[in-house]
This record gives sequence, structure tokens and C-alpha cells, in this order.
Amino acid sequence: MTVEALQIPVYRPFAARVWRLQRLSPSFLRVTFTGSDLDQCAPNGFDQRIKVLLPVPGHGLADCPTGGDWYGEWRALPDERRQPMRTYTVRHWRPGPGGTGTAELDVDFVLHGSTGPASAWAERAAVGDEVALVAPNAHFPGPTGGFEWRPPAGASCLLLAGDETAVPAICAIAESLSPGQRARILLEVPTAADVLPLTVADGVEVTWLPRWPADAAVPAPHGQLLTAAVVAAVRDLPAARIPAPVTPLDDSDIDVDTGILWEVPEDGVGSSGRYAWLAGEAGMVKGLRRHLVQEAGYDRMSVAFMGYWRRGRVSD
Ligand SMILES: Cc1cc2nc3c(=O)[nH]c(=O)nc-3n(C[C@H](O)[C@H](O)[C@H](O)COP(=O)(O)OP(=O)(O)OC[C@H]3O[C@@H](n4cnc5c(N)ncnc54)[C@H](O)[C@@H]3O)c2cc1C
Repeated sequence: MTVEALQIPVYRPFAARVWRLQRLSPSFLRVTFTGSDLDQCAPNGFDQRIKVLLPVPGHGLADCPTGGDWYGEWRALPDERRQPMRTYTVRHWRPGPGGTGTAELDVDFVLHGSTGPASAWAERAAVGDEVALVAPNAHFPGPTGGFEWRPPAGASCLLLAGDETAVPAICAIAESLSPGQRARILLEVPTAADVLPLTVADGVEVTWLPRWPADAAVPAPHGQLLTAAVVAAVRDLPAARIPAPVTPLDDSDIDVDTGILWEVPEDGVGSSGRYAWLAGEAGMVKGLRRHLVQEAGYDRMSVAFMGYWRRGRVSD
């Protein structure tokens, strides 16, 4: 790569504003963003992540970083003027002129109350509201990354499991699967009304797990249904008869309360024909991963697992 190319940022902030709001269900709000140069961003699909920079009370988006060193600029801001930044998934990307006359990008926000700035912003969002989105830069000449769905070639037995925060990512991945690809998809959501329409190819089996089904008096605890469903699903997989983990697991050093729970296999690694992608609340994800590797015989290099949020902790 040339010196000039290396100076082009891989990711950069894009000024964006709310074009449309769609309440998909009690817990999901779809926000469609547009912006004058949003066509210059280039999401890769799958579980592509972006950063949302939210207005600071009293300051809006004044001082919002704009340059290639956006992260340095952002960190250098005084605390009271630094925009809250949260990670979200690109649910859809329409690069050509849509209704807005320019590119459109959908983010599905989980509404979990007003304890966090992102959820609180989404609860009050109105058409025209402004944010900044840090997203892949179309002008960068190399791969821009920012997604973790990388099953090794030949992986024939795919498992995707997550809670509501992973629903946008899993739905986007699920829609990309080809007919004949065998995949089991498990999605835990807050209520029965949060089951979203999802069209998938033959061979992809999707199960929604509402914590609060219409006929129950109280909701199940977060993660309980998903954990049970993952245990049952891998018990039924033919490849689960592979006897021992290829790489022994020691996850005693993973502390979900102080660190980031994030481990993804390198491209093309993973030997068993199976591949699992797990995301959601970090404590739950750690438990799922442990089950797959210690009990179900998954090679740890065939399991991508990501803590998307941590109960009781701000994602700063
Ligand atoms: C790669 C990646 C992709 C993601 N994609 C999406 C996405 O597409 N849609 C989406 O909604 N989220 C997504 N998330 C999760 C999102 O970033 C977190 O939920 C984030 O904490 C929300 O920020 P906040 O400001 O609302 O809450 P914070 O300020 O981070 O947290 C405030 C409080 O709310 C709690 N909290 C945070 N999230 C939840 C929740 N979902 N349910 C209940 N309590 C919660 C925290 O434990 C804390 O106590 C993604 C995360 C990652 C890492």
C-alpha cells in the first residue's frame, strides 16, 4: 500500500440525521439515518459494527471529531464535551439514492429504558435529529473489517445464538446464507411481540425465544432460555459426536466484569466442520462458549464469541 493510501482512514465519522423511525416491536426501534456523504461509507454486511456518537446535553454535536484521527480527537475532548459513543450494527445499507436522495443506513436499537445514553436517545429520537456515525470509509483501499462472521470454508454446521442486542447482526447474517447451508439460529428476545419477520434460505432453522411469552405470568431470567436452547441444539448436531476439544479451554482468566469479552477465530481456522457465533450479554456469552468447548466438543478456534454489553456496566 502506498504512503498516500496509508493516510486514508479506515473508519471515519459521518454526519448523519434521522430520516425515518419505525417501531418494529415493543423492544426494537429501527432508525434510518441519512447524510450528505453517507454514500462514502462502505459497510461490509454481516455483523458490521459502527459507532454512534450521540449529542452532548447542552452542546449537541459541537466538537464532534471529523478527521482521520477521530478517536484521538474524541479522547482529547474534556469529559463534559465528549459525545457518548456506543457500538451498533448496520442492519441494512442502501448505498444508492433511496427516499432521501442519498444513502440510507438502518440501525435497530433495543429500547432498554433510559439508563444508558443510547437507549435514552432512541426513546426520544425524532426525525431530523443529528448524530455522527463512525463507519468504514469507502476510500480506504484495503479491507475495512469490523465484522466477525468468518466461518472457515467448508464449515457445514453453523450455529448462531444471541440475545436481543445480537438480533440485528444475526438477522443480517442469516439473510446472507445460501440455500443448502445448514444453520441453526437461536434468538432470545424480551417478549413474544419482539419476534421479527425474517426470511431465510432452505436449510436455515430459526427459533425465537421470548423471555416473556404471552401466556406467562413473569418473564424468564435473561439468558436462561437461550442457554437451554444452545445446549439442546448442539446435542442434536451430528458433529457433536467428535470426542474431545482440539484445543483445551482455560477461560479462568476471562473476567467479564473488568475486561472486554471478545474472541474470534482467525480467518480459515477451525477444524471440525462446525462454527459457532455467539453474542449478547457478556456473562451469558461466556457460559455459552464454555458449554460449547468444554461439554460439546467444539474446537475453541471454531467459536466466535462477543460480549455486546454487560449487565450493570456502562459500555463506554
Ligand atoms: C459489536 C456490537 C454490536 C451491537 N449491536 C447492537 C445493535 O444493533 N442494537 C442494539 O440495541 N445494541 C447493540 N449492541 C449493544 C449496545 O452497544 C449496548 O447495549 C449498549 O450498552 C447500549 O448503550 P446504552 O447507552 O443504551 O447503555 P449503557 O450506558 O452502555 O448502559 C447503561 C445500563 O444499561 C444496561 N444495558 C445496556 N444494554 C442493555 C440491554 N440491551 N438490555 C438491558 N440492559 C442494558 C447496562 O448494563 C448498564 O447498566 C452492540 C454491541 C456491540 C459490541
